[in-house]
Amino acid sequence: MAHDTNTQWNDWQWQLQNAVRSAEDLPAGLVDPVDFEAVEAAADRWPMVISPYYLSLFNGRSGRDPIRRMAVPSPEELHPTPHLSWDPIAEQSHCPVPGVIRRYPDRALLLVSGRCAVNCRHCTRRSLNRGSLRPLGPGELKAAYDYLRDHTEIGDVILSGGDPLLLEDDQLFEILTDLRSIPSVRIIRLATRVPVTLPMRITPALVAGLRPFHPIYVNTQFNHPAEITDASRRAAIALADGGMPLANQAVLLAGINDSAETIEMLSRGLLEMRVRPYYLFLCDLWQGLEHLRTPLSTGLAIVEHLRGRLSGLGIPQLIADLPGGIGKVPIGPQHIVSVENGVTTLRAPDGRLAGYPDPTPSIYIPRGCAPVRPRD
Ligand code: SF4
Repeated sequence: MAHDTNTQWNDWQWQLQNAVRSAEDLPAGLVDPVDFEAVEAAADRWPMVISPYYLSLFNGRSGRDPIRRMAVPSPEELHPTPHLSWDPIAEQSHCPVPGVIRRYPDRALLLVSGRCAVNCRHCTRRSLNRGSLRPLGPGELKAAYDYLRDHTEIGDVILSGGDPLLLEDDQLFEILTDLRSIPSVRIIRLATRVPVTLPMRITPALVAGLRPFHPIYVNTQFNHPAEITDASRRAAIALADGGMPLANQAVLLAGINDSAETIEMLSRGLLEMRVRPYYLFLCDLWQGLEHLRTPLSTGLAIVEHLRGRLSGLGIPQLIADLPGGIGKVPIGPQHIVSVENGVTTLRAPDGRLAGYPDPTPSIYIPRGCAPVRPRD
């Protein structure tokens, strides 16, 4: 990608204007000519968008490059698979008003943007391209705010899309100002992959502009240690210095990060830049993603490997987002071996067993704890 100056390279708008959007724009030799048509057909289903920055992370032309595998459409996306779906987590049936997804009682997602700096091939929000989900238009924000105002049980609002940090600063700050005028909205989260795919978007002006709206949390998605660069490290640290706790929601992807060593290296790198490894998602059951899915047992083996090697701070929770919009479930290795005569026998990660006794029945009285006074 030709760029005249560092200034251009570090300008996030330049990056978006110069994103790769067709197979023809990819560096020569990256796609085998026999695959060209299939790659374009896959990109018709879910458009290709790759920022020049993310393209610069590609490891030459290697077909085994995990970064390339996350960004370049694959002919394998065209294979129909009977147990996969065009609507795996039923988001469109959980939109009480356009642009608002609500699958849990206490939180809601606002789709404030329809764009991303890189269209991840494994994206869960591909309904945005199928027209069944769409981001909030300017005239629809008011209806979304009215919904949140009427549903005071929603205390946690996640700005999503697309990527909310592809909005201009003033658009984003206006949305945050409106959300902060709703007293029941206590926490705001930004779901963004920009620190990974477009780190130059994390400007000092953005970080300073977010400060008045705290508490703001940032959920991001580093999937591979090769995504941790000087630039992404600077972006994450700038957000952390700006007072935003960062959590990582990685997706477990075949041929990309499905080894214990890769996830361990990722977790260590994330902790060093103050990003907490939070979730490790099993890949959603979208049509076209069979080649990126792993058996559930792979995820369990990875988490089991991490336990005992990393502190709890560095171990993500393995999560499946259940089909039908039921919601997320944590999946853990089975550590309970038996419960007998008031003793639960537990298995440690290295296989050793130990008993944890219940309190003596004649002494233990379930008391419950005193209720706390609700907050104003
Ligand atoms: S950044 Fe998120 S919303 Fe955008 S393409 Fe990737 S996974 Fe999908």
